[in-house]
Amino acid sequence: GQFRAYGLSEEIVRAIGSLGYADPTPVQREVIPQVLAHRDLTVRAQTGSGKTAAFGIPLCELVDWAENRPQALVLTPTRELAGQVKEDLINIGRFKRLKTVAIYGQQPFAAQKIELKQKVHAVAGTPGRVLDHIRRGTLDVGRIRFLVIDEADEMLNRGFIEQVEAIIEALPKDRVTLLFSATLPEDVERLCRKHLRNPLHIEM
Ligand code: AMP
Repeated sequence: GQFRAYGLSEEIVRAIGSLGYADPTPVQREVIPQVLAHRDLTVRAQTGSGKTAAFGIPLCELVDWAENRPQALVLTPTRELAGQVKEDLINIGRFKRLKTVAIYGQQPFAAQKIELKQKVHAVAGTPGRVLDHIRRGTLDVGRIRFLVIDEADEMLNRGFIEQVEAIIEALPKDRVTLLFSATLPEDVERLCRKHLRNPLHIEM
């Protein structure tokens, strides 16, 4: 299939095949090569466009299996979306044996703390709980190289802006940042100007 054209590793191509994806969706066609080239992006795309795999495929490709500390962080506005992102990353990273965990509120903190002590490659979570783990020292963000802000407009609608900002401040500056949003209101634009590095804008 066309996924082969991106030069992805055998483990990732095999996972895409077992998910039954024959060809990339339009958003995947735009996003995958840019992320593989380490470009920051703002992407205007709706749910159902295949946006999760659009960032999930290149992230799973680029993370280093041998690194013991988390490398990718995906922030989502809801617990349901964090769980969905986790499932997708697990499926895409299956043959590379990547470990992804979801951390969100109204779930025991202690159990998440134990999960985060293991070798974890990627973390999907809601801003409040992610920030809580960072502040308590149970989520090590010192090696985060990829940040995804998913459904950014919804995140800001729910009043998570300050938490998102505090999380970003805690991350290494040398990273790739991807922001996905169905709409781009002024406060989302402001967040992009402040925290993204010469982003390419993709409009679907
Ligand atoms: P999303 O927009 O990420 O919520 O994805 C919407 C749905 O499309 C999910 O059920 C995915 O499993 C599916 N999907 C993602 N990429 C592809 C693809 N390239 N081909 C077929 N289905 C896909």
